[in-house]
Amino acid sequence: MIHRAYSLSSTTEAFNAECAKLRSIFSRLDYPMSVIDSAIKKFLFLNSSADKAERNNDDSSTVRISLPFKDQVAANAVRKQLRDLSHKIGPTLQPVFVSKKLGQDLRPKEIKPSIVNKQRVVYQFSCDLCDADYVGYTARHLHQRIAEHKNSAIGRHFLEAHGNNNLLRESQFTVLRKCQSKFDCLVFEMLFIKKLKPNLNIQTDSIRAKLFV
Ligand SMILES: [Zn+2]
Repeated sequence: MIHRAYSLSSTTEAFNAECAKLRSIFSRLDYPMSVIDSAIKKFLFLNSSADKAERNNDDSSTVRISLPFKDQVAANAVRKQLRDLSHKIGPTLQPVFVSKKLGQDLRPKEIKPSIVNKQRVVYQFSCDLCDADYVGYTARHLHQRIAEHKNSAIGRHFLEAHGNNNLLRESQFTVLRKCQSKFDCLVFEMLFIKKLKPNLNIQTDSIRAKLFV
């Protein structure tokens, strides 16, 4: 009956008048006033919750926020914070947790280039047959530079010291330093030559002269 009164009443005043009528009806039927009032209160409470739920489902007042899903604890915390904020500002803020796409996790890690693919490096050659060594730099891929060493001081070393200029291997090269620029390369090449005193380095060109070739 309360529900009928509610649906028939377009305004709160009309509903209250209906409730007054119901109260008098039920009190005449010997219902205690407290029971009638609590029934009305209960009805109003349920009804307002239903209203709220309806409003929440209304897209126009709901702001959905896409958030990456981290874990359940974080998700609950965010949900609570948004709910508190919603109460303050009005529109319902609803988090939508999106899990990272599977592909993001499965995407292969960047393939680390092997030492010979590195560009702009200061490198050291160490002969694996004796203690001869050499420090150089290249702004290109190291493997290109290594190939050229067949005809350089290193190639000559293999021929003169070991009787074979076909002994050049990429494994004899190590990167001492990966550099950002040619200038860095030249500086570090110079520092490494000073420190390691590689015995195959015969160049005496100053860093300055090299930088401007
Ligand atoms: Zn050697």
